[in-house]
Amino acid sequence: TCGKAQTMTMTETARQAADRPDALDQEISRRRTFAIISHPDAGKTTLTEKLLLFGGAIQLAGQVRARGERRRTRSDWMSIERDRGISVVTSVMTFEYGGNVFNLLDTPGHEDFSEDTYRTLTAVDAAIMVIDAAKGIEDRTRKLFEVCRLRDIPIVTFINKMDRETRDPFEVLDEIEKTLALDTAPMTWPIGGGRDFLGTYDIETGKVRLMNETSDDHNDMIGDNALTDLLASRNMDHVAEELELVRDGCNPFDLGAFREGTLTPVYWGSALRNFGIKDLLDGLARFSPPPRDQAADKRTVHANEAKMTAFVFKIQANMDPNHRDRIAFIRLCSGKLTRGMKVRHVRSGKQMGLHTPQFFFAQERHIADEAYAGDVVGLPNHGTLRIGDTLTEGEDLTFVGVPNFAPEILRRVRLEDAMKAKKLKQALQELAEEGVVQVFRPVDGSPALVGFVGALQLDVLQNRLAAEYGLTVGFEGSQYTLARWIAAEDGKQLDEFLAANRSATAEDVDGDPVLLSTSGYALNYVRDKWPKIRFADIKETQ
Ligand code: GDP
Repeated sequence: TCGKAQTMTMTETARQAADRPDALDQEISRRRTFAIISHPDAGKTTLTEKLLLFGGAIQLAGQVRARGERRRTRSDWMSIERDRGISVVTSVMTFEYGGNVFNLLDTPGHEDFSEDTYRTLTAVDAAIMVIDAAKGIEDRTRKLFEVCRLRDIPIVTFINKMDRETRDPFEVLDEIEKTLALDTAPMTWPIGGGRDFLGTYDIETGKVRLMNETSDDHNDMIGDNALTDLLASRNMDHVAEELELVRDGCNPFDLGAFREGTLTPVYWGSALRNFGIKDLLDGLARFSPPPRDQAADKRTVHANEAKMTAFVFKIQANMDPNHRDRIAFIRLCSGKLTRGMKVRHVRSGKQMGLHTPQFFFAQERHIADEAYAGDVVGLPNHGTLRIGDTLTEGEDLTFVGVPNFAPEILRRVRLEDAMKAKKLKQALQELAEEGVVQVFRPVDGSPALVGFVGALQLDVLQNRLAAEYGLTVGFEGSQYTLARWIAAEDGKQLDEFLAANRSATAEDVDGDPVLLSTSGYALNYVRDKWPKIRFADIKETQ
């Protein structure tokens, strides 16, 4: 069950083998850590289920969703996501397939939770981009793609819903190339579409994979001659012409260009009909990179270094409502984590023991005896760990690049029972550390402001304050509409600025200075007046 942690067993010989350096390399190089990016409704959930099914992580497709619904009924604030039919809670799923260990980091589907999604994308080495064959590139796919591009994350493309009416495949590829400025290399080609979708042609091998009408078993492969006959019998000669065009005119796959993020291999299929998933997964295993190097403040960390390093990219409370625990998700950047090991929590300089690191499978969590670079592990804690924190085996280094985004909405919290102000302060602090809300405390001592990147976050905060802290709150507008992190090369300049703008400055949860502004116009005015001060709308851990 959800809360019960079980120990993953590993034979003693396997454990000893994994202690040898070449074995460490081997373990790390078989990790594939990825996310799925898509527009809502394109089929991400369905594809996730099918991927897990292939990986043997779950018995029956459908359980990801079923379990989600069961869990949601247990917790009040989660009813928001049920009511709105969106997925607010993100998680990680680990499965093995074909000798590789896959870590699939789930990204929430709703635009309002982009902050969490963006942070999740700092923890992956590759992404699958799911596109609805009838709709092409949609808004949210484009935005998420842009985040991937910032980090040169290689993208594998899956064109989904080929069993329904689709757009012309060439047109879809063209759209990817034009709107994303990303080269495409079709790895398979659809034979027909909609009711006539018969299967796919494998461009490398010339084999055809047929979709079985009656079952999900789709392993029938036929050669070229059989294809010619099939197309003739179906009056689908246009497909033969398409295949000519594809073979002559489309980009060949280029591993280097893929790894640099400038070319995407494209697969076609139907997640619902369980078709094309195996090709996609094989492609991901073959082409997507093992754990990448990670930039830290003092140096770059290579995945196969012997010493363990990791950073926190996500905090989640209420994974299990019965336990009220808080899980910090860490991405291992190098080396090997062993249960019970002592690590350095770099921000505080303190040591901490990793007594109950956890792996997440589709249905269960398990105590992780060991984990390797590329893996994502959950660490239960009571607020010590924050987003962006680094853990090492003693080295003083901090990973960079985990972003905080300037809020689009600023509010004051109106408390129904004024006697509970102290409790509210503590609650906001905790929820801010978790990334649910941003809190800005004006340095002149006036009441704190809360900041949100999306409107839905207001409901989540209100519900969680009520359910977990017994606080009834409302929100009021503030004269301030913008918040920007303040920085300067010259410390004296910064001090001068802060002294001159005391009434409009606040501190965020980490104590970093923030300028509060009433409008874009007012902000520009301050910018012009203080050219040496930077006003950032993204704060990255540094
Ligand atoms: P998400 O919002 O991206 O997670 O999308 P879902 O996986 O929930 O799918 C949205 C809807 O599209 C659901 O009704 C699915 O059953 C349906 N769907 C997903 N994949 C396919 C597919 O390959 N073919 C068809 N016909 N429907 C699909």
